[in-house]
Amino acid sequence: MSDTSKEQHPFQAEIRQLLDLVVHSLYTDKEIFLRELISNASDSMERLRHVEATEKHVHEPGLAMEIHLTTDEEARTLTIADHGIGMTHEELVKSLGTIAHSGTKAFLDAVKAGGGAPNKLIGQFGVGFYSAFMVADEVKVSTRSWRADGDGLVWTSDGASGYTIDEEPGQTRGVKVVLHLKEDQAEYAGEARVKRLIETYSNFVGFPIFLNGKRINEVEALWLKNKTEISEDEYKAFYQFAGKAFDEPAYRLHFAADAPLAINALLFAPSENSERMGFGKVEGGVALYCRKVLIDEEPKGLLPEWLRFIKGVVDSADLPLNISRETMQDSALLRKLNSVLSKRVIKMFEKEAEADPAKYRAFYRKFDRFFKEGIATDYANREALAKLLRFESSLAESGELCGFADYMSRAKDGQSEIFYLVGANRDSLESSPYLEAFKARGIEVIYFTEMVDEYVVDALGEFDGKKLVSIRHAGVDIEAQETATGDSLDAEQTAALCEYLKAQLGERVTTVASGKRLVDSPVIALVPTDGLSPQMRQMMRTMDENYKDEVKVELEINPRHPLLRKLASAKDSNPELANLVARQLFDNALIAAGLLDDARDTVSRMNTLMEKAMG
Ligand code: ADP
Repeated sequence: MSDTSKEQHPFQAEIRQLLDLVVHSLYTDKEIFLRELISNASDSMERLRHVEATEKHVHEPGLAMEIHLTTDEEARTLTIADHGIGMTHEELVKSLGTIAHSGTKAFLDAVKAGGGAPNKLIGQFGVGFYSAFMVADEVKVSTRSWRADGDGLVWTSDGASGYTIDEEPGQTRGVKVVLHLKEDQAEYAGEARVKRLIETYSNFVGFPIFLNGKRINEVEALWLKNKTEISEDEYKAFYQFAGKAFDEPAYRLHFAADAPLAINALLFAPSENSERMGFGKVEGGVALYCRKVLIDEEPKGLLPEWLRFIKGVVDSADLPLNISRETMQDSALLRKLNSVLSKRVIKMFEKEAEADPAKYRAFYRKFDRFFKEGIATDYANREALAKLLRFESSLAESGELCGFADYMSRAKDGQSEIFYLVGANRDSLESSPYLEAFKARGIEVIYFTEMVDEYVVDALGEFDGKKLVSIRHAGVDIEAQETATGDSLDAEQTAALCEYLKAQLGERVTTVASGKRLVDSPVIALVPTDGLSPQMRQMMRTMDENYKDEVKVELEINPRHPLLRKLASAKDSNPELANLVARQLFDNALIAAGLLDDARDTVSRMNTLMEKAMG
């Protein structure tokens, strides 16, 4: 065929950018191109199995499901061939010339956002095919689609500005990629070098791999094997292969079950949380098989959304093989799988946390957002998940994490509620007047210091039948306790002072009463249970500068406090000063409650008070 019959195509601009990156910045780890091409071959044959199960006609059925690699040192070429689905003309243009598939786009975005070394990212996003240009100065892709109306085609490119597509009749179904290696990359035309690479990266590929006619990999569905026959190293290698991961797995769950569904699952929790490291949301990493045949690489709904960090494989013999991805997505079967799997995973975390609490705490620090998301969104698993939460508390050292079970084990006899306080950080919570009464009585208070924690406690409501109670709220019931702070106003004086304060403070105070809570502070502002927390109000104000809500509070006074004892007499002897002090006390209480929005009056009043104090 003459050169003029070749169709010339330019690469889409994004692909040119990508190629530029791939060729010029990925100077380390060039060898991963082989893993990418082998995994494309493998994906394509997995897809063929699926096509065979769902379509009537497949071009050349019965071809061996094998991947064949050939090296030619003299010609400086490396060839990777499969009998997968192949590509039509349209698919060639779309798959190998545009940014049609999401992986490449996500990769480019992550690189632009400075998300990390491109060679690490390439594995995560699977921009696989183009990595061939790290080592090759020319790539030829010969292909024949599984479709009846497909043609033999050859795609050729030097990885610079564009590619050509030409007809090439007489091909068998599948794809054959021929890399003409760059002069300084000739090593990849060497058999020994390529053999080592296959053993390193592609040992778990589910199809036999041949190199120059010799079988290299062991094909085995590790998840179907007996636990006792699998070494730690094999598990780790499988995790990195299946999860396209570079880290060590932190936890592993390998189980077989017959009821209510036949399931063989091999799941891993990673040790690094890439969402936390600034990448976007991770995609589900658990593939679904039926008797070793891949049904869907990222089935939606196999696990609850919050478990998207889990990687691995689920094989269920109960799935109909010819199920289409679309109908599966809302099938009852998938929901059942989801329920069984999520329960198992949660149980696994629970056991691991018991067996090695320190390890779990370290893990939790990186992955807490997922668990919290689970509590807020996964109603069915909420209770079980609550056991996995960890937090700081008033009885634990700073920086130490504990769970509800620890809290309950330390609870006072007869304590029927779990107390917590939400705030920006431990320091501000420690100095909060709300804590005084609890400190004095040795009652533990949980510290929640993240914005999302509020949703979490709201969603949870209780743990093990014990209500979660914010100690900022009015109506918290703690037992009376003898306080050793000495003199106190008597009942009558206290009642008179309360009445006085209520009259002075007006609208924003619903009631003024003496309480058991306070030890060191003179007054405290308690908010209604249905009110917004200071954090939420702050957020509302950030979003809307005109946001206003005059929270009404209950004022609790400490009749033992010297300031209030003096105020009780000053209200008659020096009404003007008493009024200033009363209003200042109230503002101070609002400040401590995070409810003072406008401090102008407070400051000028403070100045007046100081003037008076200095005579
Ligand atoms: P990814 O595999 O992550 O989608 P690649 O850049 O490796 O990204 O491949 C792009 C697309 O080209 C694939 O999605 C697939 O449609 C097609 N492709 C690549 N290699 C093959 C192959 N061996 N057989 C069939 N299609 C392939």
